[in-house]
Amino acid sequence: MFSEDNLLPISALQHLAFCERQWALIHLEGQWMENRLTVEGKILHERADTDETEVRGDFRIARGLRLRSLRLGLSGRADIVEFHQIEDSDNENMPEESVGSLAQSDSLIAANIMLSNAAGRWHPIPIEYKHGRVKNEPIDEVQLCAQAFCLEEMLSARINVGYIFYGKTRRRHAVMFDDKLRTHTESLIHKLHMMNDARVTPVARYEKKCDNCSLYDACLPKTIGQARSVKHYLDQTWRSVISG
Ligand code: SF4
Repeated sequence: MFSEDNLLPISALQHLAFCERQWALIHLEGQWMENRLTVEGKILHERADTDETEVRGDFRIARGLRLRSLRLGLSGRADIVEFHQIEDSDNENMPEESVGSLAQSDSLIAANIMLSNAAGRWHPIPIEYKHGRVKNEPIDEVQLCAQAFCLEEMLSARINVGYIFYGKTRRRHAVMFDDKLRTHTESLIHKLHMMNDARVTPVARYEKKCDNCSLYDACLPKTIGQARSVKHYLDQTWRSVISG
């Protein structure tokens, strides 16, 4: 168990999942640079993150909900958590207009909680806003899954599905919190704490993804990576001279 003083931000997971050096530059060295993608993302989050609760018929929307997990040592905020009222006649009456097209697998939703200010029982569904579109790597899914872990600990309930709303496509992408995603997310959280304790910034290594990185100019992956190669070459040469 972690103490309140040792919680790390959930948002750091997406940086770590994208690039370990990017995470270190932002979270260890305090560097942050805006580019078009980060500005678009910020605007989307500001719209979602207004710290208010809305009631719409038989579901409620909590914005900017504060999250915390002492088990995993994380804290942050959820853009949106929707609470859907559970009808007596079960999931057949789930309010489709509120979650778009619910996949059949959404019937796996297991959480079934009570709210202090409303009667009945409710399903919590975390929703994250992102610019762009669905990515090849599960970077955004990891962040949403970490939010689900926090909600599960806070509500003592299991959550099996969440959504990511992408600004580019204006669509919700369903994310199932299955064993594979849970295991991957937990191992990344473990690495986050280990790297935060070690406080070492990994060296730069240029990859295609660097072209979209907001920290490219601070990182200089080609220059620093090349400098390292030159040093490696000189070290090798020096060793071969010594060994004759
Ligand atoms: S430029 Fe590349 S290596 Fe540097 S922080 Fe960004 S993604 Fe990582």
